[in-house]
Amino acid sequence: MKIQALPALSAAIRMIWPAQCLVCSDAVDGDGGVCPACWPDLPMISGLCCRLCGAPLPGAMGAAEADCDDCLRSRPPWTAGRAAFLYEGAARQLVLQLKHGDRPDLARALAARLHHALRPLIPRGPMLIVPVPLHRLRFLRRRYNQSALLARALSQRLDWPWCPDLLLRSRATQLQDGLSRSGRRDNLQGAFTLNPARVKEISRAPEAKILLIDDVMTTGATLAEATKGLRNGGAGEVFTLTLARVAPAV
Ligand SMILES: [Zn+2]
Ligand SMILES: [Zn+2]
Repeated sequence: MKIQALPALSAAIRMIWPAQCLVCSDAVDGDGGVCPACWPDLPMISGLCCRLCGAPLPGAMGAAEADCDDCLRSRPPWTAGRAAFLYEGAARQLVLQLKHGDRPDLARALAARLHHALRPLIPRGPMLIVPVPLHRLRFLRRRYNQSALLARALSQRLDWPWCPDLLLRSRATQLQDGLSRSGRRDNLQGAFTLNPARVKEISRAPEAKILLIDDVMTTGATLAEATKGLRNGGAGEVFTLTLARVAPAV
């Protein structure tokens, strides 16, 4: 049964019938599942991927860690990173529903996919989970920060500490859409600073390790600037985790 077109009915049904496919809302067994019809539509990143940006790489599972060509050319400032999905097909639909579709309830189930993608990095934890912030004006328009919802759900799942407002977006940046790689970088220069009222939170993780969460990674410019903000403020190693990443150009 397709119920997405009727948001009020859909919300009512979710209350009494919570286990639904993340993509099509059909009933599934257990929370956080995807129905059999939708599984093939979800471009999950599994197998060998770049240690730094999480891009899928050709090669056998279990192979030694590798860096992709993009990261070899221009090394990101974080220690290691992963993404759960490629940002296309049904995964793109999920991100857009979380972000613009008033479906904050999706965050808990999506945290299960984040947890799965994070597995290789879990032995490096516990880390302080920190979402990439929205600028205040955008936050007021959207009423919630989708990355903070993911960060909170993951924190509950892993029992790692989280801090929703450790990073501040110190100025409103243009939307990144349509900007080139260098344009994205320039647009974000110095955009993130540490919240002075929260700096002491960094010590809640051993060696001040941070897990930075965002919904979508495009070129990595946002994550790079946020990492620099954290490092300038005294954070130790920074790791990144995104729900979906745009497939790198080949
Ligand atoms: Zn489905
Ligand atoms: Zn890479």
